[in-house]
Amino acid sequence: MTAAIIDGKAFAATLRARLAEVAAGFVARAGRKPGLAVVLVGEDAASSVYVGAKGKATEAAGMASFTHRLPADTAEADLLALVATLNADPAVDGILVQLPLPPQIDSNAVIAAIDPDKDVDGFHPINAGRLASGLPGFVPCTPLGCLMLLKDRHEHLAGLEAVVVGRSNIVGKPMAHLLLRESCTVTIAHSRTRDLFGAVRRADIVVAAVGVPELIRGDWIKPGATVIDVGINRIDADEGKTRLVGDVAFAEAREVAGAITPVPGGVGPMTIAVLLRNTLVAAHLHEGLVAPDGL
Ligand code: NDP
Repeated sequence: MTAAIIDGKAFAATLRARLAEVAAGFVARAGRKPGLAVVLVGEDAASSVYVGAKGKATEAAGMASFTHRLPADTAEADLLALVATLNADPAVDGILVQLPLPPQIDSNAVIAAIDPDKDVDGFHPINAGRLASGLPGFVPCTPLGCLMLLKDRHEHLAGLEAVVVGRSNIVGKPMAHLLLRESCTVTIAHSRTRDLFGAVRRADIVVAAVGVPELIRGDWIKPGATVIDVGINRIDADEGKTRLVGDVAFAEAREVAGAITPVPGGVGPMTIAVLLRNTLVAAHLHEGLVAPDGL
């Protein structure tokens, strides 16, 4: 069997076109654009690229983008002061502080300072608690994007065996809660899991969010399973070049799985699309408007 390729790039493009329509409707009703503020501290090259991409995507969707670039030696108090200003700014619906932060700044303190109703990254403990309690709230963008891809593939997720490999607050844990909310039977695996092969082998749905290149091999996958590969790993390739691979050995796994996301072009493009989606939801909330169905 050769797996169907789950085209996250195409799915994200369709979602972004829909979000642009919804944003235009919001502008007509609210008389202002939905606004996303992104804060970058320091000059980390990868983070700078992400922040630039987020700003461009926000504007392309007809939303207002506010980018704050602060020096690497910014004091925690100064960042907290900026967050307080953004919390109070009615033009700002969503606030994202790009991680990782420099060592002098406590990320947890900064995340906790963001107004939970502007926490479009879904990292605030209140939103994490809402997700764990089955209450409405903001859900981290990458796992929500993974769930959208899964729902597009599976009409019914209830009762399926799912394994999430990785237990970070950003991907693994929220992914597991989302799958539990869909009534999957969920196993969360991590670096101390004794029988990772066994956990993956019995899963109808595999979500890999590890950060270890091609850790999960093709013969671990249950035939016909759906594989969502969150990992983004840069490895050495021929002629001194590098290339991106996921946490799953793609060429092997696609011979066994029913469907699989490629890296790149699978989960990656979904993250920014869902960030825009969360910002639009926040904007409707702030204006007391009902967000359109299916957003
Ligand atoms: P973290 O490093 O925060 O978490 C990695 C998790 O993997 C940990 O829970 C760790 O276990 C577990 N782990 C590490 N090694 C093994 C192993 N050998 N066997 C089983 N589990 C293991 O990473 P993130 O969750 O932030 O990211 C994971 C991957 O997803 C990375 O490649 C990252 O680049 C990518 N990513 C992609 C995004 C996208 O937009 N597509 C967005 C976010 C992340 P333990 O807890 O025990 O240490």
